[in-house]
Parts: sequence; C-alpha cells; structure tokens
Amino acid sequence: MSDFYVSLIPTDVNWQPTSKAAAEAEAYVRRVFPDPDGVQQDVTVEFYDRITAVDAGENIQRITCPRCDHDIPLDWYEDLIEQTEGEFDSPNVTVPCCDTAAGLDALKFDWPSGFARFEIAVANPVRGEYEFTADEVGAVAAILGHPLRQILAHI
Ligand SMILES: [Zn+2]
Repeated sequence: MSDFYVSLIPTDVNWQPTSKAAAEAEAYVRRVFPDPDGVQQDVTVEFYDRITAVDAGENIQRITCPRCDHDIPLDWYEDLIEQTEGEFDSPNVTVPCCDTAAGLDALKFDWPSGFARFEIAVANPVRGEYEFTADEVGAVAAILGHPLRQILAHI
C-alpha cells in the first residue's frame, strides 16, 4: 500500500522560511491535523539543500509543456527523476517535445506537482477532510511569510 501525502510548498522554488517560522508552522499544522493515537499520521518539515521534486507521485496523469502545449511523456519525467534523484541545481530543464528550456515549476502537471527547497507535509492524515482548507493554506503562508501551493501525492 502506498502512503498518502498532503504537502505545502512555497510558490518560489528557491524560497525557504526561517527555522523559527517553520517551527511555528509545524505546530499549527499539528494542531489542525490532530492525531489522537499518534500511530498512523506523520507531520514532517523539510529544508532541502537543492531544488527538490515534490510531485504527486502515482497521481501524475499528465504533463503538458508550457512552451509548445504538447504533452510531455510521463516516461521522460520518470527518467528525469530517476537520473537526478529528484534534486536539481537549476530550476530549468530542457523539455523533449520542443527541445527548449522551461522552468521546472512551469511544467503543467495533472495532478498538481511542484519543486521546492522547503516542504511541510502530513503523511496519511487522520482527519476526514484530509486536504488543507484554503483558510489553512493561508494561515500557514502567513506564518511562513510566503505564498504556498498544495500537493496531494500517493507515493
Ligand atoms: Zn514543448
């Protein structure tokens, strides 16, 4: 069985919060995602050294090129992640469809996926409403000090 992750990442691939803000955000997330038994769920906060794929995993159905609007083969993306181990020094990549450079975060993923150097995630959320609500995304963004995107992943 795969794990289900609900993640928040900054909209800017390189942005990182202060460790103090991250700790406050973690406390907030633990409060709104209660886990009475403390067995099933995991809340994690990650600072990544390099730009790191935070993608929808098995939920990725389709990737579309921001340059030419053609589909990008899922195999190409899977190979890219395998070769790079999902870590990037540059936010740009050469896409296969039109052989041009595109921003990783400009690739259009269905389901939404992203790239970031910070992530706060709830693995296997206990509560019934498993996504962050818009209000909660806004609250975490206010604590961290940067707009966020939500990623839902089966990995
Ligand atoms: Zn293209």
